[in-house]
Amino acid sequence: MERSNPAIIKDAPFPNCYAKELLCIAKGVGVWLEDTGGKRYLDFAGGIAVNALGYGREDLAQRVYRQMQKLTHISNLFITEPALELSGKMVKSGDFQAVQFLNSGSEANETALKYARLYALRKKGPGHHKLLCFTGSFHGRTMGALSVTPTAKYQDPFQPLIPGVVVAGFNDTADLTKKLDGSFAGVIVEVVQGEGGLEVMTTEFAGALNRACSELDLLLIADEVQTGLSRTGSFYAAEGVGLRPDIVTLAKPLGGGLPLSAVLLPAKVNELIHPGEHGTTFGGGPVTTSLGSMIWDTLSEPSFIEEVRQKAVFLTEALEGLRGSFPFLGRIKGKGLLLGLEVGGVQDKDVKDSEIQDKDPETPDLLTRSLEDMREAGLLALRCGTNVLRIAPPLIITKEEIQIGIDIMRKVFEGLGG
Ligand code: PMP
Repeated sequence: MERSNPAIIKDAPFPNCYAKELLCIAKGVGVWLEDTGGKRYLDFAGGIAVNALGYGREDLAQRVYRQMQKLTHISNLFITEPALELSGKMVKSGDFQAVQFLNSGSEANETALKYARLYALRKKGPGHHKLLCFTGSFHGRTMGALSVTPTAKYQDPFQPLIPGVVVAGFNDTADLTKKLDGSFAGVIVEVVQGEGGLEVMTTEFAGALNRACSELDLLLIADEVQTGLSRTGSFYAAEGVGLRPDIVTLAKPLGGGLPLSAVLLPAKVNELIHPGEHGTTFGGGPVTTSLGSMIWDTLSEPSFIEEVRQKAVFLTEALEGLRGSFPFLGRIKGKGLLLGLEVGGVQDKDVKDSEIQDKDPETPDLLTRSLEDMREAGLLALRCGTNVLRIAPPLIITKEEIQIGIDIMRKVFEGLGG
């Protein structure tokens, strides 16, 4: 990282799970961010796929301000009009009867896993509690969500995790068929593996999941925390591959940058839940849901989704162009405006922590150097999997802005010896 940038903070009293040196961001407008030293950056990271509508939005700020003047928090002992309005829209997005609001992606998945177990227990009795997840998946860091996130780096320091979790190969229909049986409560899966390296579910695998879960009466949970709300070019990524989940979890873009997540539940599950069996103090408060309603309306507009698709084609072609110029670039991965580019070979077998980006500074790999040089050149991006440069910009980005980012990437790759 540039030593001379005054906005790089080295002594924050944050725990060591975060990088030792962090860039201090002050503000943003559109898809542009500014650090506390006044340096500007084009944002290909979107706050890790959260900030779909970009920065400095007066309309969003006004919505939050007006709601805070009226009521900020009241708890789930009551209901508020914003929560009622947003949940009403959300249940209409599929075959859902209820929406449970929570505060993070992990908590939404934790809730979905709990309800899968509740459903199996009440419907079939004890002994049907197992959960199936897939290699390369990321579902969160709370104990339940972590238990279905089978990456050693994330899991090992926190063993033992919850019992009854089985891991199958992602997109491996034979392994799915071999491992799944009536002793399971549910299956949790991402359509595009946002942290694991941007592998995309095949339509064949989606079909196999639909069939297996319906035949065995298991709950199919689609973790759309990173992919949901139009990021991949369809409102839900599940639609794009023909996956028919019983439960959908949402988070990242839903609250417009405020902490809001949700679990969409079908009638067959909701009917088995009793008062007090699950809950949250803050989840679904009037401020987050009021803003969430605005976000929902914008992101669900068919014309908005069509634009995302077109911009994704433009970005994919631009990445193809880069790939043709530099031998150290590999496959293009992901879908929609959640795209990735393999940079360099796999450095080691252990999946890096894509949200920390704190590689050993003594031996930075090609991807680490690319990301640092891009940052220095005014472009912020992400990493995921072992060697994938991940691009998840605000969805409002224009083709011209995408081109600016691609031009910076090209210069950086040239500087790396391309
Ligand atoms: N599921 C997926 C698919 C995610 O990408 C993430 C976050 N990267 C999570 C769950 C966890 O969300 P949170 O960090 O809000 O707990």
